[in-house]
Amino acid sequence: MYDQSVRRVGVFGGTFDPPHLGHLVAASEAAFRCGLDEVVFVPAGDPWQKHHLKVTDAAGRLAMTRLAVGSDPLFRVSTCDIDRDGPTYAVDTVADVRAEYDHEVDLHFIIGADSLENLHTWHRVEELCKAVKFIALNRPGHSRRDVDTSFGVEVEFIDMPAVDVSSTECRQRVRDGEPVRYLLTGPVGEYIVERGLYRG
Ligand code: ATP
Repeated sequence: MYDQSVRRVGVFGGTFDPPHLGHLVAASEAAFRCGLDEVVFVPAGDPWQKHHLKVTDAAGRLAMTRLAVGSDPLFRVSTCDIDRDGPTYAVDTVADVRAEYDHEVDLHFIIGADSLENLHTWHRVEELCKAVKFIALNRPGHSRRDVDTSFGVEVEFIDMPAVDVSSTECRQRVRDGEPVRYLLTGPVGEYIVERGLYRG
């Protein structure tokens, strides 16, 4: 059993360009399987790992993340990464999310199998691993167990119903005039159309 006196909070960082059903199922499943009281979606301010891509402005990704989360009482969105200047590093995300509470919290960083494979390249990763436990979710095409644990990372692997959707695929489908209905939420789809995102 978990210590009921300390809130268990999931931190879910991402580019969310756009947020899709894979993100929502991952967050929901992590919360359910790991007894999280809340999941905080944190859109990256400056996603340094995606500098080779044309990324939607932070305001647009924040708006879409808020629309994706909607009124789900289990989810909330933090702007801490967008509010901080410079490249977005998870070690700073975690410190800032912790500072948003006036009581002790047990933080869990939610991560897909693809990102987990690169974890050893993350900025100040050893410090990050001391600050949080990781919840890793399966993602089609990636093995969750390909993680280098030599720097003392604590990972809980959980199985979610596989959702073979990526933001890259959603952007590509919009560019090609293909439907993204049901790959992301209705309000996110409407926002993409209204702002003319991903048209090329
Ligand atoms: P892109 O295609 O642009 O690289 P993405 O779909 O991977 O984007 P991100 O915002 O980069 O989306 O992902 C944020 C986090 O969500 C990462 O930890 C990623 O591994 C995880 N994630 C994204 N999609 C899925 C999915 N379909 N199943 C499980 N985890 C996912």
